[in-house]
Amino acid sequence: MNIHEYQAKEILRSYGIPVPRGRVALKADQVQRTAREMGGRCVVKAQIYAGGRGKAGGVRLVANPDEALLAAKDLFGKTLVTPQTGPDGLIVRRILVEEAVEIAREFYLSITLDRQTSRYCVIASAEGGMEIEALAEKSPEKIHILTIDPYIGLRPYQARKLALALGMTGRLCEECVALITNLYRCCLEKDCTLVEINPLVITKADWLLAMDAKVNFDDNALFRHPEYPDMTDLSQIDPLEITAGEFDLSYIKLKGNIGCMVNGAGLAMATLDMLSEYGGAPANFLDVGGGATRDRVAEAFKIILGDPDVRGVFVNIFGGIMRCDVIAEGVIAAASEVGCTLPIVVRMDGTLVEEGKRLLDESDLNVKFTHDLAEGVESIVGMVGKSSD
Ligand code: ADP
Ligand code: MG
Repeated sequence: MNIHEYQAKEILRSYGIPVPRGRVALKADQVQRTAREMGGRCVVKAQIYAGGRGKAGGVRLVANPDEALLAAKDLFGKTLVTPQTGPDGLIVRRILVEEAVEIAREFYLSITLDRQTSRYCVIASAEGGMEIEALAEKSPEKIHILTIDPYIGLRPYQARKLALALGMTGRLCEECVALITNLYRCCLEKDCTLVEINPLVITKADWLLAMDAKVNFDDNALFRHPEYPDMTDLSQIDPLEITAGEFDLSYIKLKGNIGCMVNGAGLAMATLDMLSEYGGAPANFLDVGGGATRDRVAEAFKIILGDPDVRGVFVNIFGGIMRCDVIAEGVIAAASEVGCTLPIVVRMDGTLVEEGKRLLDESDLNVKFTHDLAEGVESIVGMVGKSSD
């Protein structure tokens, strides 16, 4: 789960990590008023669920409240496209107004889960501000990585070694040790999969400050944090993903034009691979799960049809616990309700498959039934057309 920079900074502040003074605004006149309170000169920062805003014009240094108002009017409602948003970009609905800080040096600091070792690791570099992926590619020796043993935790001497590797000495080094230690505590207690400060800065007045902040929560730990869902900004999420979440369906939008309804993540992955193998391009990954009901299947199907990129639907279901007749009923109900005329290919096998096939055959939908996966994939790709890339 994602949250905004201003929310991430509130959390960091509660762990004693220094962040710039700032306030979030939902309207342009609030931005102007806050800028006045900050003394005029400040930074106006678009809040979207993606980084790379600086280069995309989403972070503006303004000299006075009037300039802040102009920047806010320009940014509110604007769609920002950054390397992290994808081509459709994200719309700006909230703005963080922050004191303008005089920066002497920028660093990179994050704690994330290393899936290889199944441990948290601290990543730090004296080359902040730029994308860590690019740095890892170009000069991996400039990135310092510390893997944390969960039983021992993060010891101060380890944090100090990192701070020294970043070139910090004396008081700043000890401040940095405290900051890294607090960041790790935050990561554990808040169940984060990522806490990233890029850039962490040393100001001209010689203080450490988290200038940007990104926090991702572990979705599997949401049950421990009932307050998290209220932090979500729905304007930053694909409406179809929101609906899918309400019905407990895993839905992920992809770039192609073939909607896929599948049961089980493994079968979903295999389906996407097969579609690509035959030159097709999946429009999504939608897993209805093991014991879906007719209504959930119908909702899943409506979500797929709600995506304007979809030119045809491929259903690939193995009926174990899930009954094929239930799938067929759900597909028929949803397709009839929305008046779907797109081609549908249903590959089903397993429990009550003959009953499911009969229901589909008797419906007046544009639907083709197959037993064989390759045959099903070939026919949907044949009807929708191959992907151009
Ligand atoms: P993003 O990572 O999305 O581009 P950042 O918050 O990192 O956004 O801002 C981009 C750059 O803008 C930072 O690297 C920093 O140099 C500058 N910046 C951000 N906030 C401030 C601030 N409050 N004062 C001065 N400069 C800032
Ligand atoms: Mg940043």
